[in-house]
Amino acid sequence: MQPPAVAVRGLTYRYGERQALAGLSLRIPAGSVFGLLGPNGSGKSTLLSILIGRRLAQAGHVLLLGESPTDRLRRRVAMVFQEPSLDPLMTVGETMQLQARMFGLKRPAAMTAIDMLLERVSLSDRAAAFTSTLSGGMKRRLELARALLTGPDLLLLDEPTLALDPDSRLRLWEHLLEANSAGCTLLLATNDVREAERYCGEVALIDAGGVVAQGRPEELKRELRHESVRIEWADDPADDVAVLESWPGVGHVRLAGQTTHVTVDEASPFLARLFQGNGDRVRGVRIEESTLEDVYFQLVGRNIAPADRREDNGR
Ligand code: ADP
Ligand code: MG
Repeated sequence: MQPPAVAVRGLTYRYGERQALAGLSLRIPAGSVFGLLGPNGSGKSTLLSILIGRRLAQAGHVLLLGESPTDRLRRRVAMVFQEPSLDPLMTVGETMQLQARMFGLKRPAAMTAIDMLLERVSLSDRAAAFTSTLSGGMKRRLELARALLTGPDLLLLDEPTLALDPDSRLRLWEHLLEANSAGCTLLLATNDVREAERYCGEVALIDAGGVVAQGRPEELKRELRHESVRIEWADDPADDVAVLESWPGVGHVRLAGQTTHVTVDEASPFLARLFQGNGDRVRGVRIEESTLEDVYFQLVGRNIAPADRREDNGR
């Protein structure tokens, strides 16, 4: 039996007065692609920075790969940070070589590994280019190649695909999944519900520095036992939100332009009532599968995704 990749218990972290982690506990199975899913400010980055050893928790326990974090784990745990971390005045090749030197990798083997990794992330032909000349997607792939150079067993990723276009996201995920197939556990912090549902075998929903639920996305959605209805209106539905919310069996009403998403206990009685009163104003309805966004709202009473991205999320 492999020990869990991450086992934390009762982690507490404060920035001055502000509590970022409030006794957080979590176990992440070895070999998984695991998502920490929560809105901005819920404590994801703080947790990752403690795991990578950048910050020290004020209380609680951390085990990584079955061990207390020490220098021995330095090569086995790697991280791609949320903020860009490349030196614009260094070339792609130099960026990799610096990493090799920092971790004391022996020269011929390191050079082979660098060539192989740059090849893998399609940056071989850019080895002599300054990192400042790379596209956003290329920069992320270089940061990933650099993180993989020590052959880590656990890779922490803080919103790795944020601000990438859909093509670059897909490519990055190809490489991430490849690393996972080779045995590397991925721990991903994100507020992108769609990405978590698509790629994560298991997720933890994070609110205010604690875990509110953990499980496989399908399991969490099944427990919800709710249906989700999308209504397209012929006119502006802004005033209908409060009305719909007051109906029996209605959970969560989300407005997006001319459409509303409504989670309901059961779709059929809801639709009957909707058509009775508003038949002429409804242009169309669709019953949809619940998403992790619905699960989160049910548990926490708030959304995960920022308002400007909510429409994308899993719909
Ligand atoms: P997330 O990554 O989920 O967006 P963070 O871990 O960055 O969340 O933040 C958790 C909480 O801690 C937030 O309330 C945030 O404002 C606060 N916080 C984060 N970093 C700092 C910092 N360097 N100084 C003060 N407060 C911080
Ligand atoms: Mg963050």
